[in-house]
Amino acid sequence: MPTEITSSIAALRARLEPVRRAGAAIGFVPTMGALHDGHASLIQRAREDCGHVVVSIFVNPLQFDRREDLQGYPRTMDADLALCASLGVETVFAPREGEMYPRPPACTVDVGGMADHLCGRYRPGHFRGVATVVLKLFQIVQANRAYFGEKDAQQLAIIRRLVSDFNIPVVIVGMPTVREADGLALSSRNRRLSPEERKEAPVLFRALDAARSRIEGGERDANAIRRHAVALVPSHRTLEYFEIVDPETMQPVTRVDGPVLVAGAIWIGSTRLIDNAPATPPE
Ligand code: AMP
Repeated sequence: MPTEITSSIAALRARLEPVRRAGAAIGFVPTMGALHDGHASLIQRAREDCGHVVVSIFVNPLQFDRREDLQGYPRTMDADLALCASLGVETVFAPREGEMYPRPPACTVDVGGMADHLCGRYRPGHFRGVATVVLKLFQIVQANRAYFGEKDAQQLAIIRRLVSDFNIPVVIVGMPTVREADGLALSSRNRRLSPEERKEAPVLFRALDAARSRIEGGERDANAIRRHAVALVPSHRTLEYFEIVDPETMQPVTRVDGPVLVAGAIWIGSTRLIDNAPATPPE
């Protein structure tokens, strides 16, 4: 089936209705475009699992807390469509803003304390915007399975909770972070880095990895783990946060007594990069 591109909710529903009736599983990969190999890994997994794959491409204004970040967000629609076609995606849903938000929403999703730390603390309203658009997209697509990257671990934890709290009949599949050879997590924002900045960008990965090693080596004091890891970041770079949290609730821990998530955000010039490392202490 050749890739069909639709920007209308009604047309998407009309296309998916017979697919669902024929009993094919629908796999859904929500994205903001500027697709890279990280997105491709999600799409490939959806392709393996499901009879019909839907990729959405929508830069959601509701989740941007800074106007310049929204305006400067990379947009590469032609290349994105070519990638989707090459991966055998049946349907690309690329709505305009007016289709998704014909008027400003009165009802949005309050994610509570799950947004109190990590990115949520520094990007007010971000996860409200994410949870709201994902809920809308789930209602529109009504997929059997939806695929998200562990790179955005707080987002993934919130979506799992959204699905559980609202009894949404979709299976959430989390996929491992795809990285460059030097450890840098693939991100649509990486293309904004200058060659000099690109060289420095893996420093966050190295700090997270150092924290993971300490935890796996038996260190349990979260402050000590954090101090040691943060010292690896050169002083001219701003670490926005570097925290050790419970992987489900996203609340900070003081002692590492079970599996945790180490997560950080760093500014490299005017580009903000995030990454994380799951870690489990020895028995
Ligand atoms: P985005 O377009 O940045 O909103 O991302 C769309 C989906 O791709 C989200 O579920 C992300 O977590 C996932 N994703 C982004 N970067 C990566 C990566 N490097 N590896 C795996 N998944 C990723």
